[in-house]
Amino acid sequence: MEGRTHVPRVDEALCGVCGICRGACPALVSPDLATGETDTVRAALAPHASQGRGGLPPCREACPLGQDINGYLGRLAQGDQDGALEIILRDNPLPSVLGHVCHHPCQKACLSGPVQTPPAIRELKRFAAQAPRPAPSPRQGRPVARVAVVGTGPAGLAAAWELARQGGQAVLYDAQPVAGGLLAWAIPDFRLPREALARDLDYVLGHGVELKLGQTLSPQQVAELRKEYDAVILACGAPRAKRAGLPGEDLPGVWQGLDFLRESALGNQPRLTAPVVVVGGGNVALDAARVAKGLVDQVTLAYRRDREQMPAYAEEIQAAEAEGVEFIFRVQPVALEAGGQGGVAFLKLQGTTPGRPAPDGRVAFLPDPGDEGSLEAGSVILALGQESEAGAWARGLGLASLESDAQGRLAPGLYVAGDLVTGPATVVDAMAGGIKAARAIMDEVRS
Ligand SMILES: Cc1cc2nc3c(=O)[nH]c(=O)nc-3n(C[C@H](O)[C@H](O)[C@H](O)COP(=O)(O)OP(=O)(O)OC[C@H]3O[C@@H](n4cnc5c(N)ncnc54)[C@H](O)[C@@H]3O)c2cc1C
Repeated sequence: MEGRTHVPRVDEALCGVCGICRGACPALVSPDLATGETDTVRAALAPHASQGRGGLPPCREACPLGQDINGYLGRLAQGDQDGALEIILRDNPLPSVLGHVCHHPCQKACLSGPVQTPPAIRELKRFAAQAPRPAPSPRQGRPVARVAVVGTGPAGLAAAWELARQGGQAVLYDAQPVAGGLLAWAIPDFRLPREALARDLDYVLGHGVELKLGQTLSPQQVAELRKEYDAVILACGAPRAKRAGLPGEDLPGVWQGLDFLRESALGNQPRLTAPVVVVGGGNVALDAARVAKGLVDQVTLAYRRDREQMPAYAEEIQAAEAEGVEFIFRVQPVALEAGGQGGVAFLKLQGTTPGRPAPDGRVAFLPDPGDEGSLEAGSVILALGQESEAGAWARGLGLASLESDAQGRLAPGLYVAGDLVTGPATVVDAMAGGIKAARAIMDEVRS
């Protein structure tokens, strides 16, 4: 090798045992990249590896749960699937779920990224999660604290698991007839197989967590629960579809995306008439379009920006395209019009054009009044975002807002976690919020 050569060496104190970077060490791939004051490219990259949480590897630092990623990848590399799962379960009670749908910030943070495709950490977790689960050890004696958790989504489940691990007891409430929140009644099973979710639910419930389904709690009932339990965690998510406020939005044949996904996930066979038009560019729009494509032939997704600006995951967009969903970009809905039978028949659209980039670099797409048209539509699915009911909960509980401290504490014995307070976010972030609130409760109870 010409120029500066460098023998790749894994510094165990920094990065442990995954060794992925060894095969992609930039100093080997391109030695002449080593410039400036640092001796080698590895030397230039090493400080980044030791930034943040006390010198943790960047993948671990990027994970909201702080998973020991290099630890479990190392075990997998040694063929030790049980050992890998044991490491994962130290910080994460839903490994199968995250093995399927995590947005994997770890992979983006991997230092090997600039020179090779980072390891498929999410898929490797999915594999590890198939190992047999160790049986949870039952709590001995009376619980240290009894906590009511409102919502069985990832925030509520992770909170319940953490409480149980620390000697507390969680009672989970949910309005829906199934546990799991959006994991169970919004994310379609072709992305999150129900047996993977069931494996994780069984594991959490195996810790002695009690479940009360089909109970929609009001703020008044939550205030009562605060008297009955040592603490309450509100983890109700952002389960309401944001309405577009369009003329004709309530016509027969018009669905809100989240309602459509819920009916489909709960097995209620939503009726669609082709051609179907889905409006939106996020995960709800893409999931709805793919579910719709399984029911009818012709599905078109209309989005007001370009493909590059779609907030949905790239792999979902590619999958929808491969399944035959058609895309129209730079259009926004203006109105829905009825046909002879009274149901929706046309979606009126207006073209959009990119404006000047805002200071954050984001380009606004502005409506172009001279550019109007309409699409024939037997059914329309509007997927324009979700709203949390944070304002209504705050008013009902007599609080100014649901703004909490960093641990999710709103008031003594009252905590919040997940999408309810962050707005629509991700599974792993909701779990991290739930665990944080549970830990704070146990600290409060013990102090
Ligand atoms: C279609 C779709 C696809 C998604 N895909 C991904 C993905 O691939 N990866 C990813 O990381 N994230 C994804 N997300 C986001 C992710 O699902 C959420 O961020 C996460 O589920 C939020 O968790 P949570 O526990 O805060 O709330 P939720 O999962 O919304 O759970 C809240 C629960 O509280 C219950 N509840 C609400 N009000 C009450 C009440 N008054 N009384 C009793 N119970 C109540 C609800 O019924 C619900 O079951 C997706 C979201 C959607 C909608």
